[in-house]
Amino acid sequence: MKKVFLLFSKLIFNTYAFAQKRPATDRPNIIVILTDDQGYADVGFNGSKDIPTPGIDRIASNGVVFESGYVSYAVCGPSRAGLITGRYQDRFGFSRNPLLAPKDPNMGLPLSEETLADLLKKADYKTGVLGKWHLGAHLSLTPTQRGFDEFYGFLEGGHRYFPEEWTLEENQVKAQYDGYRTKLTRNEGPAQETEKEYLTDALSREALDFVKRHQNEPFFLYLAYNAPHAPLQAAEKYLSRFAHIEEPRRKTYAAMVSAVDDGVGALLDLLEELELDENTLVFFLSDNGGPTKDNASNNAPLRGFKSDFFEGGVRVPFAMQWKGQIPGGVRYEQPVISLDIFASASALAQVKPKNELDGVNLIPYLTGKNPNPPHQALYWRNFDRNRFAIRTVDSKMILEKELEYLFDIQDDFSESKNVISLDLNRKNALSEKIELWKKLLQDPAFLGLLEDKEYNRLHPDRFAPDVK
Ligand code: CA
Repeated sequence: MKKVFLLFSKLIFNTYAFAQKRPATDRPNIIVILTDDQGYADVGFNGSKDIPTPGIDRIASNGVVFESGYVSYAVCGPSRAGLITGRYQDRFGFSRNPLLAPKDPNMGLPLSEETLADLLKKADYKTGVLGKWHLGAHLSLTPTQRGFDEFYGFLEGGHRYFPEEWTLEENQVKAQYDGYRTKLTRNEGPAQETEKEYLTDALSREALDFVKRHQNEPFFLYLAYNAPHAPLQAAEKYLSRFAHIEEPRRKTYAAMVSAVDDGVGALLDLLEELELDENTLVFFLSDNGGPTKDNASNNAPLRGFKSDFFEGGVRVPFAMQWKGQIPGGVRYEQPVISLDIFASASALAQVKPKNELDGVNLIPYLTGKNPNPPHQALYWRNFDRNRFAIRTVDSKMILEKELEYLFDIQDDFSESKNVISLDLNRKNALSEKIELWKKLLQDPAFLGLLEDKEYNRLHPDRFAPDVK
C-alpha cells in the first residue's frame, strides 16, 4: 500500500512539474556565451589537440558546429555591437573600438538601437549580462539602461584577472587602461562585496546563480567572458593542467581557455539538472579571431588574425545547441553570422524587432526545413582603412586600396590562392554588391581606441571629477 502511495505521489508530482514547465518552444531561454580573442583552432570541436575543451565540445555534440561561423567585425567593440543588435554595426556608426569615456553619451551603442535584451524584455524575459560590456560607459549606455535587469562585470574593453589587482574605484580612472584595474560593477554601481575569485571563475559562478534564480521564467543570459583576451593571466589550478605545453604564453592562454571550459561545462550540467536543457538555446562563439602574436592563440588552418578580414579575423569558433529541437552532432557548412542570434531569438520569442535586422532566424535551416543557404552574402567594412570584404556561398573578396583578393572559399578556406586577376566578372559582380551595401552605412559616430591622444586633446576633462 505504501508503495502504491509513493508511486501515486510521484505521478502527481511529475504531472505538477510538467504543468509548471513551459513547452520547449514557448519563449525558450537564450544563453549566449561569448569568449574574447579565442582562436578558431582553440576548441576541441575545431580540432584542438593541446587544449582540451570537453565542456564547450558538449555544445557541439548536443547541437551544431558552424564551420563557417562569422562575426561582423574583426575586433571586440564593433563585433559586440553587431551581436547585441542583430545589425551591421556600421549602420549606426559603431565602426571602431570605443574609448573608455564615462562622460560621453555618444561613445558607445547609440540609443536608436534596440539590444537583444530590450527585445526580449518585451516578451517578459529576465535578462542578465556578465563580464565585458564595451558598448559605452556613460550612465545612459550602461547595461541596466540597455535592457539588462542584471549586470556583474566591467564597462571597459578588458580587465585584469586577479581581484587583488583591482585597486581603483571608477572615479580614480585617469587613463584608458586604468579601466583594466577597477573594481567590478554590480548593476548600476560598484559591487559592494569583495570579489575573491579569479575573474573567469567569478563570472561562471554568477552565471550558475543567474540560471538558478530565474529557472522558472524565460531568461536571456549574455555571458561575455573576457578570457582569453590579454593580459595573459591564469590561476595555478588551470596552469597545472598544461605541463605538456612548454611555451609559457601558450601555456597561460591554454589555462585561460580551460577556465572558461570548466564554466561552460558547469552551466550545461546545471541546465540538465534543472531540466532546462530542452528549454534553452545555448550559443558559443568568440567575438573575433585570435590575435596570435598577442595571446598565443591559434587560427589554423585559417589565414590572418584579429583585426584583418582574412578568415582568421572574422571566422570564429561557433556552435549552438537546442536539445530536442535541433539534431546533435551536426556540422553546418553554410555561412552564418553572429547577427543571426538576434534574429533567431526574436522569432522564437515572437517579438517584433524595432529596427531592420541583418541576421536571419537559423532554426529552419538547422532543422532541415529550409535547405537553402541562410545568406546570399555577408559583408564587412573597416572604415579607417577603407577596407571591405564580402563572403558569398562560394567566394570571398577583400578590397583595400590597391590590395585586392578573391578566393574560391569553399575549396580554399585557407585563402592561399588569389584568383582576382583571373576572374574580373566575378570581381565586378561582388563589387556591385558591396557598393549597394555601402549605401546602408553611416560614418563612424565616435573616435576609437587608436585615437586616444586625439580624444584627450579634444576632451581634456575626460576623467575629471564632476563638480557639484
Ligand atoms: Ca575580442
